[in-house]
Amino acid sequence: MAPRRALVIGGSLGGLLAAHLLRSAGWDAVVFERNAEDLTGRGAGISTHPQLIDILRRVGIDFDESMGIKVDTVICLDQHGKTYLETRTARTMSSWGRLYRSLRDPLPAESYRLGMSLRSVEQDADGVTAVFADGARVRGDLLVGADGVRSTVREQFLPDLTPQYAGYVAWRAMLDESEVPPDIRAEIFERYTFCLPEGELFLAYPVPGRNNETQRGKRAYNIVWYRPTAPDTTLIDLCTDATGRCHGTTIPPPLIRPDVTAAIKATARALVAPQVAEIFARTPQPFFQPIFDHDSPQIAFGRVALLGDAAFVARPHVGAGVTKAALDAASLAAAVSGDDVAAGLLQYQREQKPFGSGLVALGRQEGAYLSAQLKPREQRTAAELTRDINDVLLAHNSRSENLRNVLVGSRQASAIG
Ligand SMILES: Cc1cc2nc3c(=O)[nH]c(=O)nc-3n(C[C@H](O)[C@H](O)[C@H](O)COP(=O)(O)OP(=O)(O)OC[C@H]3O[C@@H](n4cnc5c(N)ncnc54)[C@H](O)[C@@H]3O)c2cc1C
Repeated sequence: MAPRRALVIGGSLGGLLAAHLLRSAGWDAVVFERNAEDLTGRGAGISTHPQLIDILRRVGIDFDESMGIKVDTVICLDQHGKTYLETRTARTMSSWGRLYRSLRDPLPAESYRLGMSLRSVEQDADGVTAVFADGARVRGDLLVGADGVRSTVREQFLPDLTPQYAGYVAWRAMLDESEVPPDIRAEIFERYTFCLPEGELFLAYPVPGRNNETQRGKRAYNIVWYRPTAPDTTLIDLCTDATGRCHGTTIPPPLIRPDVTAAIKATARALVAPQVAEIFARTPQPFFQPIFDHDSPQIAFGRVALLGDAAFVARPHVGAGVTKAALDAASLAAAVSGDDVAAGLLQYQREQKPFGSGLVALGRQEGAYLSAQLKPREQRTAAELTRDINDVLLAHNSRSENLRNVLVGSRQASAIG
């Protein structure tokens, strides 16, 4: 008998993880990605957790030295560049590109189809059909919506639901190690570095280089800078290109106006430690991502399931979006092992919905300080005016433990429910 076919919509990390786990469970999983070319240029650091490493190993991807950079020290720099706190940590910092290649390369070419933009989904008792923008129709037994925060699949099944803007953006920048001035490299490159300008949060750490290298000299330095940004004024301006066209709540990095880039580099020099401001200023094209919260009331619809950011978007402070996508994929693949796909997906929903909602709540809690900054100063509480660096470090060093607690709690809830 031919294997059952899973149509996976979205060819980023969530879709690739779903395809691998379904294939190891005996499914013929095919990924459909709307971009016409391989997704390469998404330079961004990704912190990892033991659950992600376990799941990668399960599908034959060894999380060896080449997958990330180990960091064992955290430092906090004041505005003048002086280290005022130093502590131990144990993290492996990977990158989107490194994880993407390790998942994409082992998939057979015919199982990853580029230039396929899903338009709608049709389903009946015997199967599900993906309808693409070019009119192509592909039939399967299961459809997985791994199509991100703006999911077309979710929009069809939950049309009234839109992700909520959290009130701040993450500015991101990445610089090749060889471009970092030698004195700054020696001082901070291998450390996880925090700066706390008032009402903001700036962090930086080493990641694999642009061709995923982890050897000294070829790595890269990654910056994430959370800045409160008013939605109806500043965000609109940031998303408006040089021709005056506003692109919504985000804008492709090459279209960010030169004056916006110059202004954010000048702000870095004014607000954060000179070492990291220098690195930020040297990056050719910093870009920003608005931060959203999204919690789906339902993630299974007959033969259709939502996974990864399409299902739940937790603010990145937990550093677990990719690990959550991996856990979603593992739960989904196990749940659809029987003949009844729809019943399997209900089981998937019972397991992953409490987990997704729990992570969204944790992300909201950790980002509450940043969201509060849009309130007038006199309306903010003392905790909203000054973020205690010890709280920041505690949250950082407890990331994997917090993730595990949400996971254990959600598994208990799903066993009871
Ligand atoms: C600032 C920031 C820092 C982060 N840091 C971390 C971290 O340290 N660790 C971590 O684990 N996570 C982190 N995350 C979260 C992580 O990046 C996401 O959770 C993860 O990438 C989600 O993957 P996904 O595959 O679900 O969605 P996406 O990566 O958004 O992929 C969706 C894919 O679907 C495709 N698509 C969309 N619509 C269609 C359509 N109609 N038809 C076909 N294809 C379509 C898109 O082109 C895209 O390739 C961070 C996020 C941010 C914003």
